[in-house]
Amino acid sequence: MSQFDVDLFVIGAGSGGVRAARVAAGYGARVMIAEEYRVGGTCVIRGCVPKKLMVYASRFAEEFEDAAAFGWTVAEPRFDWGTLAANVHKEVDRLEGIYRANLEKAGVEIVDSRAVVVDPHTVRILRTGRQVRARYILVAVGAHPSMSPAIPGGELAITSNEVFHLKELPRRILVVGGGYIAVEFAGVFAGLGSEVTLLHRGDKLLRGFDEDIRDALAEAYRRRGIGLALERTVQRLEKRPGGIAATLSDGTTIEADQVLVATGRRPNTAALGLEEAGVSLDEAGAVIVDGYSQSVIPSIYAVGDVTNRANLTPIAIREGHAFADTVFGGRPTMVDHDLIPTAVFSTPEIGVVGCGEAAARARYGEVEIFKTSFRPMKATVSGSADRVLMKLVVEKATDKVVGVHILSHDAGEMIQLAGIAVTMGATKADFDCTVAVHPTAAEELVTMR
Ligand code: NDP
Repeated sequence: MSQFDVDLFVIGAGSGGVRAARVAAGYGARVMIAEEYRVGGTCVIRGCVPKKLMVYASRFAEEFEDAAAFGWTVAEPRFDWGTLAANVHKEVDRLEGIYRANLEKAGVEIVDSRAVVVDPHTVRILRTGRQVRARYILVAVGAHPSMSPAIPGGELAITSNEVFHLKELPRRILVVGGGYIAVEFAGVFAGLGSEVTLLHRGDKLLRGFDEDIRDALAEAYRRRGIGLALERTVQRLEKRPGGIAATLSDGTTIEADQVLVATGRRPNTAALGLEEAGVSLDEAGAVIVDGYSQSVIPSIYAVGDVTNRANLTPIAIREGHAFADTVFGGRPTMVDHDLIPTAVFSTPEIGVVGCGEAAARARYGEVEIFKTSFRPMKATVSGSADRVLMKLVVEKATDKVVGVHILSHDAGEMIQLAGIAVTMGATKADFDCTVAVHPTAAEELVTMR
């Protein structure tokens, strides 16, 4: 009889935890997974999936407008938040069911409860009080929206957790933050017809992105009527008869019906028993792990946002898979966090792989820049003022494309494919000898000289 009840106890059934559990079970491990909220985690339940569905919803208004120049007469469009929310929740429910079914099919035991670490080989299931002995523990508990430092009246604001559960579309919304989430929701609400102010403490949105992309996005957002309030912070929020008043650091006030705060996320490590078990956390509360996702306690691993490496679903999935390969598959595997294609689902979208111009100069020395900005073909007839920006960053010494930056409709789709080329080490000459697909916007990636 083994001294352990299970080979693996996974805490958290999000993207990373579910993948690790299924792959480990496939290797023959006895696996239990605990989830305190809903199986699927942030991505499926209150992140990527419902967000992207709302992004789709938000883009119809422009389509209706553009349609006229192409000969269509569209009746006065009306948007109903309730219908959208209900359909989004239905899809989230369906996906949660699939996640559960896949875990069960793999032979993983699902425990619907919060679980905490008791010692390096023991987990307590809080709903029942049962203690489970595990050969390995995988911490995959994700992160939560952070409203720190707290501001007076902060409880009047919502975060990305609550945004999918609003009862109605806010007429006016103040979105605070300049990262992925703030930028994406500002675009969603503007498209759905809300009056949006996007407030950010910095002088430009999306720190870390290429400067040209940051500038082009700001221009596109202004053109869409999104008010950008930069270099300001919220000092306090107060309830007023007409809504919520936000007093800003410059002394001005903005009134809105909802305030959405998206100023970053923090790992969910509070009261999880990790430090008591000897696991080291960094100053942000993230589990410190090595390249194999192993913490300083050899039997405890961690993957996904709780480790605060690259907080993206596909990375959590890779980390979870690599963990299972390493520990149960006899194939030690590290995840490369260096080259990560990513998209911001703003409207227009941003797609990026590799370094921005400034970062590339710092990393590679001399670089060549190829850049184009043009009106997409559809806009020439619709009259839309939209522009596409594409930029290639090439290392001079090797001719390697070390950065691709796109602001365009469908940039997320484009960057997935450009990401293959860049990951393979494609040179500018490789891009140049690729035949263009005409007429597309993406063809500009292979015709820039
Ligand atoms: P980010 O870390 O991307 O951005 C946080 C933003 O809030 C930054 O603009 C930051 O400003 C600002 N900020 C931080 N603290 C404060 C403060 N105290 N006062 C005012 N502003 C502040 O976080 P998000 O919440 O947007 O997203 C979290 C993570 O989720 C992202 O990093 C991303 O990895 C992931 N994500 C990915 C998506 C995708 O792939 N499409 C979509 C959504 C999320 P500053 O720049 O000055 O630090």
